[in-house]
Order: sequence, then C-alpha cells, then structure tokens
Amino acid sequence: MSELKITDVQVHLTQPTSPACRLVIVKVLTSEAGLYGLGCATYTQRIHAVDAAIRRHIGPFVIGKDPRNIEDLWQSMMVSAYWRNGPVMNNAISGIDMALWDIKGKLADMPCYDLWGGRCRPAVTAYTHAGGRSFEEVADHVRRCMERGYRHVRCQLGGYVGLDAAHLGPPEGGQAGVYFNPKEKLTRVPALFEHLRAELGDEVELLHDVHERLAPIDAVALAKSLEPYRLFFLEDLLAPEDIDWFQNIRSQCATPIAMGELFNHPREITPLVAGRLIDFIRVHISQIGGITPALKLAHLCDAFGVRTAWHVPGDTSPVGAAACVHLDLAMHNFGIQEWGRRGEAEEEMFPGLPQVREGMIYANQRAGLGICFDEEMAAEFPPDERDLDWTIARLPDGTLWRP
Ligand code: MG
Repeated sequence: MSELKITDVQVHLTQPTSPACRLVIVKVLTSEAGLYGLGCATYTQRIHAVDAAIRRHIGPFVIGKDPRNIEDLWQSMMVSAYWRNGPVMNNAISGIDMALWDIKGKLADMPCYDLWGGRCRPAVTAYTHAGGRSFEEVADHVRRCMERGYRHVRCQLGGYVGLDAAHLGPPEGGQAGVYFNPKEKLTRVPALFEHLRAELGDEVELLHDVHERLAPIDAVALAKSLEPYRLFFLEDLLAPEDIDWFQNIRSQCATPIAMGELFNHPREITPLVAGRLIDFIRVHISQIGGITPALKLAHLCDAFGVRTAWHVPGDTSPVGAAACVHLDLAMHNFGIQEWGRRGEAEEEMFPGLPQVREGMIYANQRAGLGICFDEEMAAEFPPDERDLDWTIARLPDGTLWRP
C-alpha cells in the first residue's frame, strides 16, 4: 500500500451511562476501504468545545495526510494553532492520535500492545472504588469488592468530598456549591484506615483519593498519619499549583504518592518524576493529547522508578479505557489500572471493551485497540445538556475551593 490518506474525521457525542458521562468518540476514515480508527476525545465538562475543535480545526488539518506518520502528525497538530496545551485542544488531538494508533495496529494486523513491544503480563491488575457513610459501610463495601475478586480497593468516606458535606450548606448569602470541611479528613481518614486494617487485615491493598481538598500543610500531615496503614497509594494530595510541597511530604514519610490527573501538558509532571517525588503517574491520557505522549511519559517514568496508574473514571470512554489497558500490558513499569463497572448500554455500544475477571482486566487479541463502536446505537443516547456542578466546592464560610 503505497498511498494512504485520511479521508474524513467524524465526531460522535453520546451518553450511554447516566449521570455525568458524556463521551466524545472520534472516528478517522482512510482511503483504504474499511480501514478506520477510533479515538477518545472525552472532556466531559466541555464536549461541545472539543466537538467544534475537531470539526472546524483539527479534522480539516489532518484530512489528506498520511495516517501512518503518527509522530509527525501529533507534533504538527500540537503546534498548528501556534498556542498549545489545554484540555480542549489536547482532547481533540487525542481523539485523532488514538485513532491513528488503532489504524497502525490494523495495518500491521497486531494489537497495539504488540506494536509497543508485546505483553509484559497476560492481564492487568485493576482497582475499584468502595465508599460509605460510616466506617462499617466502607468495610462492608470493600468486602463485597473482594468477593468479586478485587485485591485493590480505593476507600472513600462520605462520597467525593467527605462526610461533613451532607450537613453543610451555604451560610446566609452564600452561593450554591458542594460545601465541605477540609479539616475533617485529618481525623476521620486515618481513623477509617485504622478501622479497615483492623477489620480486613493485610490481604487487601487500600487506596485513597484526597481530590486536592486539603491545605498543603494539612496534606503533609495526612500523608504522615496514614503511613502506619500501608496504603498502596495516596492520590491527589495537592493541587497542581502546589506541587512544590511534594518535597515536604517525601522528606517526612514513605506513604506512596499518586498524582497527575489534572495535568494537561505532557511535560508538566516531569519535575515530580525526575525528582522522585511521586510513585504513580495518574495522568488522564486524552487530557495530555493521547497515546503518543503517554508512551513517552511511561518510558520517562520507568527511568525513575515511577509506575503507571492511568486515570480511568467513568467519563473516560471505553475507547480511552482500551488504550490504557494496551499500554498497561506493554509497559514494564505498569503499576495498577483504575476500573469501574460499565453499564449494559455501554458494553453493547462498544463491543470488544476489555473485561474484568477476578480483579484482572483482559484485552482481546484483535488488531489495533480491539474495540468497535455502534454509531447507530450511540445516536439513540444523546448527551444531556446539563453542565456538571460537582466541580464547584466551597468551604463552610462560602469561599470557593480550587482543587
Ligand atoms: Mg483522583
């Protein structure tokens, strides 16, 4: 095949799972009959901006070009708007970049993990989420996860921001938002993990996500106080603006640290990796521009003893999730993979989605990313137009919290 060109770039907006999982799926078509690729461009909070960026800018930019030259296309897409780096453009670029790797695998008749060196493991260790309104509820939820075969469980008390959120509300004249008390984490979270270790023993690996909802010095204190409970990792202790504080945490305790889901530029995490200040990279692959930068980051991390733990919440599309699993299979410094239950509609809409059995994720052996997409079904599940509000968090006095 001497001549091969990108002939069309399609964008599909869909929401097979409610609430809050609005997906952006990109399909790149080529001049070779039947040869196409799928990519994830899901920035669930700004789907229409990504849609426009692909339809009006990045799509027309790549049409007519050779889909085999992935590196050159990625670099070109990044600089074509002159100003670069940002969640809208990076997701748009990711949608095309993942599709190009899917095409590359189909051309080679290999799964993407084979393109990247072959499998380091037959399956990928997953962690899932458990939560509850009391220590006992969380412990029961962890036990149910263990009965399903999971040996790694993220444990949260009181939902996204903590138990106090349920009875906190705006003060007189205060604005709407999710009110929370950051100080509660300093006492309740260590007590939760003391309870979980006493109840569950050492057979299960425990994880916790702070969601950047602590003042920096309180983050240092929490990491120290959790050290006796031997977490697999403690995630998102600090906002991206406060990363210099990781030095203080590292110098005071050996709690393993995971970080990176709010980063946009693929080099943003370099100081944390090169400084050996974190243990797991939690970058969201579509947010940094796709598989091409993720491969480079994984290899950079390997040189510094940092393992991968790509961010895969429910609003990562199944295409993006499949890309992460292929990376997990091929990268020697894989650490763990976040994985949630997918709804029936999502499973049906994306045939080939990697499957979990006994806490391990298995990819199929089909070429490329190994995943398909039912466009007609997707059209029957349009995204809702409500913008998400959980991002607006406020302190008890009404001050906006910047995660
Ligand atoms: Mg997180």
